[in-house]
Amino acid sequence: MAYRLCVRSLKALASPVSRSGVRCKATSAETAAAGAANGGFNFEITSEQQEYVDLARKFAREEIIPKAAEYDKSGEYPADIIKKAWDIGLINTHIPQEFGGLGLGIMDACLVTEEIAYGCTGIGTAMEANSLGQMPVILAGNTEQKKKYLGWHMEEPIMCAYCVTEPGAGSDVAGLKTTAVKKGDDYVLNGNKMWITNGGKASWYFVLARTDSDPKAPASKAFTGFIVDRDTPGLTPGRKEWNMGQRASDTRGITFEDVCVPKENVLLGEGAGFKIAMGAFDKTRPPVAAGAVGLARRALDEATKYSMERKTFGRYICEHQGVAFILADMAIGIEASHLLTMRGAWEIDQGRRNTYFASLAKAMAADVANKSATDAVQIFGGNGFNSDYPVEKLMRDAKIYQIYEGTAQIQRVIISRELLTKAKQMAM
Ligand SMILES: Cc1cc2nc3c(=O)[nH]c(=O)nc-3n(C[C@H](O)[C@H](O)[C@H](O)COP(=O)(O)OP(=O)(O)OC[C@H]3O[C@@H](n4cnc5c(N)ncnc54)[C@H](O)[C@@H]3O)c2cc1C
Repeated sequence: MAYRLCVRSLKALASPVSRSGVRCKATSAETAAAGAANGGFNFEITSEQQEYVDLARKFAREEIIPKAAEYDKSGEYPADIIKKAWDIGLINTHIPQEFGGLGLGIMDACLVTEEIAYGCTGIGTAMEANSLGQMPVILAGNTEQKKKYLGWHMEEPIMCAYCVTEPGAGSDVAGLKTTAVKKGDDYVLNGNKMWITNGGKASWYFVLARTDSDPKAPASKAFTGFIVDRDTPGLTPGRKEWNMGQRASDTRGITFEDVCVPKENVLLGEGAGFKIAMGAFDKTRPPVAAGAVGLARRALDEATKYSMERKTFGRYICEHQGVAFILADMAIGIEASHLLTMRGAWEIDQGRRNTYFASLAKAMAADVANKSATDAVQIFGGNGFNSDYPVEKLMRDAKIYQIYEGTAQIQRVIISRELLTKAKQMAM
C-alpha cells in the first residue's frame, strides 16, 4: 500500500519505547518538560507529532479530498476510506496500548483530526464518532469489557456509536425516556434514540437508559450506561437521515424494543451512566473543536486562492482591502481557536479537569468554522453559492459544529457555570 511505502503508518510511528531504541514516543510530561526548558510556554509539537500531522495531511490530500464531493452528493458511507485509515492507524488512536491500541493522547488526536477535517468533515465525523462511542468504555469499562470491545476495534475496522440523544431530549439529557428494567441477570431496554452518528454502521453501541423509575431521582443516580451489541434482537436502526451537511456521515434513529442486555454489559454499575456519558465529552470535545478548526482552515485556503485568481475593477480581489480584511479576520479566528483547542487537549493529557477549556474550545472553534465558511462563500461571490465550487459544502458542513456534542448555547451554560463556581470559591 502506498502509505506503507512512502510514509510510515501511524502504528509504526507510535510504536512504544524500545530499549534498543529505534523510536521513542515523547510523553506529555516530556513535552511539558521541553516546554519548561524553553522558558515555560511551548508552541512546538514533537517531531513525532509532526509525523502524525504529515501522515494525516497526506491521507486527507490523497484519499479524502478527491472523493469528498462525490460522497457528499451520494450520501454513501465512506467505508473504503475508513478501511484505509484503519490500516494505517488514523482511527482509534486513543485505545490504550494494553488493549492493542496506540494509546495516543487527546492532543495527538486533535492534530490528526484537524488534518482529516481539512479534507472533509463528513468523512471525518464518520471516523471520529468511534472515539465518542468508545470513550465511555475507556473511562469506565472493566478489563473484560475493554478487551472485548476495544480489542475488537484493533482486529477489524468496525464502527461503534454513542447512543444518548432521543427525539424528545438532546441538550436536556436528564429528560431521556429510554428505560432499562432489570429482569434476572439481564436488563430489558425500551425506547427510541435519535441522531446517532454511525447509527446504521456500528457493531456495538454505548446506550444511556433510565434505570430508576422514580422521577425525582437525581440524574447522577437515575441512569445506567450499557454496551449493546448491534445484533441483539429488538434493536433496529432507522433510515439514514438526509442532513444539511456532513452527508457522508451516517445519522439514524435507533429503536429498542425489549432488547435484552446481560448485566456483564453494564458500565461501572447501575446508576453510574449519566456521569460516564457526560465525562466522555471532556475527551471528545477538543477533537470535535479540532475538526471545526480543520474546516475553517480549508475555508481560508480556498478563499485565499480564489481571491488571488479572481479579478474585479482591474485587480485581484485580494488587493481590495475589504476582501483582504475578511481573510485576515478568518486567520485571527483560526489561529485563536487552534490554540484554544490545543489547551483543552493539553489540560486533559496532563490529567487535569478540562471541562472549562474543552467547552471554550468547542464553542469558539464551531463559531469560527461557521463564520469562516460563510466568509469564504462571500469571497467566492456567486460561485460560492454553487455546488461546483468547494465552499458551499464547507458552509453546510460547518453548521453541525454548533449543534452536536453540546450546542453553542450549552457550551456557554457550561463555561458560565464553571467560571461562576470558580468566582464563588475565590470569594469565600
Ligand atoms: C448530525 C447529528 C449527529 C449527531 N450525533 C449524535 C450522536 O452520535 N449521539 C448522540 O447521542 N447524539 C447525537 N446528536 C444529537 C445532538 O447532540 C443534539 O441534537 C444536540 O445535543 C441538541 O439537542 P436537540 O437537537 O434535542 O436540541 P434541543 O436540546 O431541543 O435544543 C434546541 C435549541 O434550544 C437551545 N437550548 C436548549 N437548552 C438550552 C439552555 N438550557 N439554555 C440555552 N439554550 C438552550 C439549544 O442550544 C438549541 O438551540 C447528533 C445530532 C446531529 C444533528
